[in-house]
Amino acid sequence: MLSLRGLDIMYVKGIGPQRAKLLEKELGLRSVYDLLHHFPSSYLDRSKIQRICDVRSEVAWVLFKGRFVSFAMQGEGAKSRLTALFTDGTASLEVTWFRKVQQIKSLYRPGVDYVLFGKPGFYNGRMQMVHPEVDTESNASAMSGFRGVYPLTERLRNAGISSRTIYMWAQAALSAHQRIADPLPEGLVRGLGLMPADEALRVIHHPASGEALERARYRLKFEELFYIQVDMLMRSRVRKGALLGMRFAKVGHWFNTFYSECLPFSLTNAQKRVIKEVRADVNTGRQMNRLVQGDVGSGKTMVALLCMLIAIDNGAQACLMAPTEILATQHYETIRGLTAKIGLNVKLLTGSTRKAERDVIAEQLAEGSLHILIGTHAVIEDKVRFRNLGFVVIDEQHRFGVAQRAKLWSKSAIAPHVLVMTATPIPRTLAMTVYGDLDVSVIDELPPGRKPVTTVMRYDEQREMIYRFLYQQMQMGRQIYIVHPLIEENDKVALRSLEEGYEAICEAFPQKKVAFVHGRMKPKEKDYQMGLFVNHEADILVATTVIEVGVNVPNASVMIIENAERFGLSQLHQLRGRVGRGADQSYCVLMTKRQIAKETRQRLEIMTSTNDGFVIAEADMKMRGPGEIEGTMQSGLPFDLRIANLASDGAIIQAARTAAEAILDADPALQAPANRPLLRAVEQARSAQADWSRIS
Ligand code: ADP
Ligand code: MG
Repeated sequence: MLSLRGLDIMYVKGIGPQRAKLLEKELGLRSVYDLLHHFPSSYLDRSKIQRICDVRSEVAWVLFKGRFVSFAMQGEGAKSRLTALFTDGTASLEVTWFRKVQQIKSLYRPGVDYVLFGKPGFYNGRMQMVHPEVDTESNASAMSGFRGVYPLTERLRNAGISSRTIYMWAQAALSAHQRIADPLPEGLVRGLGLMPADEALRVIHHPASGEALERARYRLKFEELFYIQVDMLMRSRVRKGALLGMRFAKVGHWFNTFYSECLPFSLTNAQKRVIKEVRADVNTGRQMNRLVQGDVGSGKTMVALLCMLIAIDNGAQACLMAPTEILATQHYETIRGLTAKIGLNVKLLTGSTRKAERDVIAEQLAEGSLHILIGTHAVIEDKVRFRNLGFVVIDEQHRFGVAQRAKLWSKSAIAPHVLVMTATPIPRTLAMTVYGDLDVSVIDELPPGRKPVTTVMRYDEQREMIYRFLYQQMQMGRQIYIVHPLIEENDKVALRSLEEGYEAICEAFPQKKVAFVHGRMKPKEKDYQMGLFVNHEADILVATTVIEVGVNVPNASVMIIENAERFGLSQLHQLRGRVGRGADQSYCVLMTKRQIAKETRQRLEIMTSTNDGFVIAEADMKMRGPGEIEGTMQSGLPFDLRIANLASDGAIIQAARTAAEAILDADPALQAPANRPLLRAVEQARSAQADWSRIS
C-alpha cells in the first residue's frame, strides 16, 4: 500500500494544485497523511434534530428539520438579500442570505424537506439564522453525529475555505481508502485494546458518539507519544551501548573517610538512593548521563560531593560547574569546609580568579593533584586541561546549553560521567519526554526538621503592618529578602519602581543596612552587594530575580515578593526556596494589588496551600501549558504535538513509555517484519520534527 505521506494533498477530491499550495502555506499540510492528521479542535453536534419551539438561546449550533414556506428578495445588486421563512411545525424562524442569493434562490424549493444547521440568533424575540447549512434529508443523515471543527487561518477563510470544506476533504480522503494500514504492530494494538488506525482516523473526523471519540483520541495520542518514546529510547540505548565511560569499580579511602568522619548529618533515604543509582551507573563501563531533580533545599550538593569522591577514589578528577560566580563561590566554600579535615584538594576557578592562582590550578590539574575544580563557565575554556577528568557535575542545568556540555566531553579521551542537577522540579512525565535520553533520579524528600515556609497573600495597603513584622524579625537577628520582578531590557518604569522600592525600604528602616541588586548592574557591583547580604553585613536585600538560583543564606527568614502576580508559579517556588533553610520558622509574603483576576488569585493560592515543588510544577503546567515551564527548555519543546498534551496526558505518556521499552527489549532495532512499519513511522515522525538535535 502506498504510504499516506507519499500522497500529495492536491489529488484529494476538491483540492487541486492552487488550494494545495494554500494549505501547505497556511497549515503546513502537504500529504493526505497531513490532512488526516489535521485534527478537529472541537465538534459540532449534529447528532439530534431539535424542535424550533424548544430553542430559546443563542448559544450553540442547532439542527432543525422542516420546510421553507416562502422566499422574498430584497434590495438590488450587491446589496440584495434573500430571506425565507422556515418551519418545522412547532415554530418558525427567518433565514437570511447575503451572498450568492440568486443561486440559492434557485437551489431550494418550498414544500420539500430540508435539514437546517446553523447558529440561531434572536431579533425582537424572533429566531433568525444567517447563512445556515442546508441539506436534503439523505445528505444530512450521512453527516449526522459530531462534525469536526478545524483550526483555520484568516487567509484560508478569505479564500472561501471553511471548517466544513476541510471536513469534506477529510471525508473525501477517507473514502478514497478502503482501509488505512496500521503502523503500530497488531500485537500492541490488540494487547492494549487500542482502536485500530483506520477506525481512529474515521472516528476523529466524524465521531458517532462521545465514547467513540474518546477511544479514537486515546489511540491517536498514544501513537504520537509512542513514536517519541521509541525514538528516544532507541537513541539512548545506542548511546549507552556505544559510548565508553570510565569504570569506577570501587568505593575507597576518600569516600569512606569522609563518610565516617566529616558527614555533618545523616543522609536522607532519597539522597542515599540517588548515590546508589550513580554508583551503579559508573560501574558499568558506559558513560553516565543522569539528571538529578530535587526540590530546593533537598540537599543536592551533598549528593554531588559524595559522587565526586567516588570518582576520586578511582583515580579520576572531578569538576563542578555553577551558572554564576556567587553560586560557584558558595559551592566552593561549602565543599572546602566539609572536606578540609581529610585534606582534599579543591580549587575555585571563575572569571575573576587571579593569574597566579590560575597558574597553580593549571599545574595541579595537569599533574593530577587537584581533586575537584569548582567554577563557572571558566572551567570549560579551552586552556583548562585536566589530567584525568572523570566526573562532571552541572548545577542548575538550564543555564548550560548542550554545546557547553559537549565542550566538557572534549576535555578527556573518554567522555566523563555527567551529573546534571536541577532544582526546577519537572513533572515526571514531562521529564520522560523532554529528557527522554537522560536517566532521571529524583530526590523526593527534604532533610528532617525543615519547617514548611508559611506563605500568605497581602495587599499593598497592608504595608505598614508588614514593616512592623519585618522589624520584629530583624530584631531577632533574621535577614529579609525583598524581590521585585525582573527588569526587561530598557524598561525604565520597572527600574524606577524597583529603585523606589529600595528607597522606601531604606526610609522605613533607617538604622538597618540594605543591599541592592539587579541584573543590569555590573557583575562586580552585583557580587559586592550579594556579598554584603551573604555575610550578614546587610539585613535586607532588595533584588530582582537574580537571586532566584541557589543562594544559600540560612539566616534569612522572610521573603517579600512584590507584584507577585507577575511571576510564574515555578519561579515563585524557586524564590521561596531561598528561605526556610535554617531552623527558624520562615515566611513568604506575596504582595499584590487588591484587584487581581480570578485566575491570578487561584494561581497564587496554590503557593499558599503547598510547599511541594512537584505539586506546584504540575499545577503550573496544567495552567500554562508545558512549553511555558521554566527551566525545561528555553525555546519550548523540541517537537510539536498534534493531539497529545504533555500536561494532561501523563498516564498515556507512561503507557507509551512502558510499551516502547517492551518492544525494544524484544527487538532493539525493530527489524522483525511485524515491527518494520513501526520503524518507518518512527523515522518519518523524526524527520518531520523541526529539530530533535537539541535534546542530545
Ligand atoms: P539544594 O538541593 O537546594 O542544592 P543544598 O544542597 O544547598 O540544597 O542543601 C540545603 C541545606 O540542607 C544545606 O544547608 C545542607 O547542608 C543541608 N542538608 C543537606 N542534606 C541534609 C541532610 N541529609 N540532613 C540535614 N541537612 C541537610
Ligand atoms: Mg543547590
